[in-house]
Amino acid sequence: MYPFTLERPTSSADAVKLAGAGGRPLAGGQTLLASMKLRLTSADQLVDLSGVKEWTGICRDGDALVIGAMTRHADVASHADVKALIPALADLAGNIGDRQVRAMGTLGGSVANNDPAACYPSAVLALGATVHTNSRKIAADDFFKGMFSTALQDGELITAISFPIPKRAAYMKFKQPASRFAMVGVFLAQFASGVRVAITGASSDGVFRHAGLEQALSASFTAQAAAGVKIDASGLNQDIHASAAYRANLISVQTQRAVTKALA
Ligand SMILES: Cc1cc2nc3c(=O)[nH]c(=O)nc-3n(C[C@H](O)[C@H](O)[C@H](O)COP(=O)(O)OP(=O)(O)OC[C@H]3O[C@@H](n4cnc5c(N)ncnc54)[C@H](O)[C@@H]3O)c2cc1C
Repeated sequence: MYPFTLERPTSSADAVKLAGAGGRPLAGGQTLLASMKLRLTSADQLVDLSGVKEWTGICRDGDALVIGAMTRHADVASHADVKALIPALADLAGNIGDRQVRAMGTLGGSVANNDPAACYPSAVLALGATVHTNSRKIAADDFFKGMFSTALQDGELITAISFPIPKRAAYMKFKQPASRFAMVGVFLAQFASGVRVAITGASSDGVFRHAGLEQALSASFTAQAAAGVKIDASGLNQDIHASAAYRANLISVQTQRAVTKALA
């Protein structure tokens, strides 16, 4: 690890000021600290956001659930409103990594990091969520920009994410058994306006929506309708864990399972 200084602001104003001056935000540290220890990344100054209480917590706002950026995965998984209103989101959070990762990792850290195999980006995209930052609101469709890349500007901080409450939703993850990240994860959400399907783990470009599955499931919300959609393997990840064809098949199978789960 290269040397760095650590700041621990207790107000959002101080956190924004420090990040704006070049400090690197530190949330749960589950990705950032490991990367720093391996010297894959470095920071002259870390800005620990854990003291900013206004960025933690969950509340209902009309037809949406608003979750603070510093809310830990374990708290999303166990929160009564999340379990009642978007159970698929509680389920997703409860299956991230292991107990320690869920105790420390945060919604904002995961979404800002945009790992191509992370779970939360698929929920943000499928639910058509809005990412709130210290300076603006960004629609999910405009937020994810490819592997480890987002619409966030230097020094811009995620403060909360607003998730519209769907009619039905489900997340199905086929885990990479060692890391528990998604080899392929499918999050689908049904709204009055139609169905949105977001896939993680399958592409090195990161999370993406699948137009064919969305069209088929908007017309008929059944596992059979999903099974009828041919998934193109071109452009999908090919690595020691799975071939592109295997991942394409997983997208189909996990989508069918997600529909069955959402209807249960
Ligand atoms: C063993 C292991 C297994 C895991 N398994 C899974 C899994 O199954 N599914 C999954 O989705 N994830 C998994 N993760 C990742 C985990 O969910 C982390 O919580 C997540 O990657 C990063 O969140 P964090 O809060 O720890 O962020 P940090 O590591 O603190 O930060 C990550 C990045 O985001 C930036 N950042 C943090 N907060 C903000 C903010 N509010 N605004 C702007 N930028 C910010 C940081 O500067 C850094 O660049 C796993 C991690 C580990 C170590």
